[in-house]
Amino acid sequence: MNNTLKKSIQEAASLLQKSRFTTAFTGAGISVESGIPPFRGEEGLWSKYDPRYLEISFFLSRPEESWQVIKQIFYDFFGKAAPNRAHLVLAEMERRGMLHRIITQNIDNLHQEAGNTRVYEFHGNSMKLVCLACSREFPYGKINLDHLPPRCPDCQGLLKPDFIFFGEAIPQEPLAAAYDAADKSDVFLIIGSTGEVMPANQIPPLAKQNGAKIIEINPEESNYTRRITDIFLQGKAGEVMSMLAETLFSTPLDDN
Ligand code: NAD
Repeated sequence: MNNTLKKSIQEAASLLQKSRFTTAFTGAGISVESGIPPFRGEEGLWSKYDPRYLEISFFLSRPEESWQVIKQIFYDFFGKAAPNRAHLVLAEMERRGMLHRIITQNIDNLHQEAGNTRVYEFHGNSMKLVCLACSREFPYGKINLDHLPPRCPDCQGLLKPDFIFFGEAIPQEPLAAAYDAADKSDVFLIIGSTGEVMPANQIPPLAKQNGAKIIEINPEESNYTRRITDIFLQGKAGEVMSMLAETLFSTPLDDN
């Protein structure tokens, strides 16, 4: 670890130890080391898939085409991913009373799989499917995706993944939890987000305005870095969070 990063990690750990309310704000970057590519950037999913398949109007008018792409991205691919060290350190922070809330833009369920319980999903979750006719919900594993689009076992209505498509509103509960976190957090820990996705990108600047210190982890500078970040820990989420954990907890976490 170079000396600048070492010093920044010590400063970040000290802020986190003193904080009375800490929120982690996570984006696609935290799951990259779990094998899930982000949407943006050279290796991003948008270089391979057309984002219009995830527009709600396209889905409703051409569900079969939309579902073909959704199945490839989210179920053939996301379904195989497991939490990485960054997710696991956040879970340990929650257990130790050092993390009070996660606001995530991710839809991959990896924070919950790692053991975090106070997770608010800004963009929903891909692990549940919802019937657009009768509103019943089904775990995705219970629905056969061989025939697309999948239909509700009860009423034959169209099933939609329970994540937010482009053109849909953010659900009330995570929105309220995010504004509340921006209001009361002493520290906001941003991990792996470009800060380009509206309206989620408005939450960290609001936290800053309300007095929170901003710690950011990302291999690249984001829209936040020069505007609001107080401590920038440049690097991959899993690697940086492992280093942070060693300083933050008196004993290092077990490897797994
Ligand atoms: P993004 O795709 O816009 O940006 C990803 C960010 O992660 C970039 O800033 C990149 O530099 C950074 N990054 C890349 N590798 C990293 C690593 N190893 N560690 C830490 N950071 C790393 O992501 P976004 O801003 O979160 O917006 C995309 C939207 O797409 C999200 O809101 C989400 O809804 C959705 N999405 C979700 C997933 C998922 O659930 N895992 C994956 C792709 C997209």
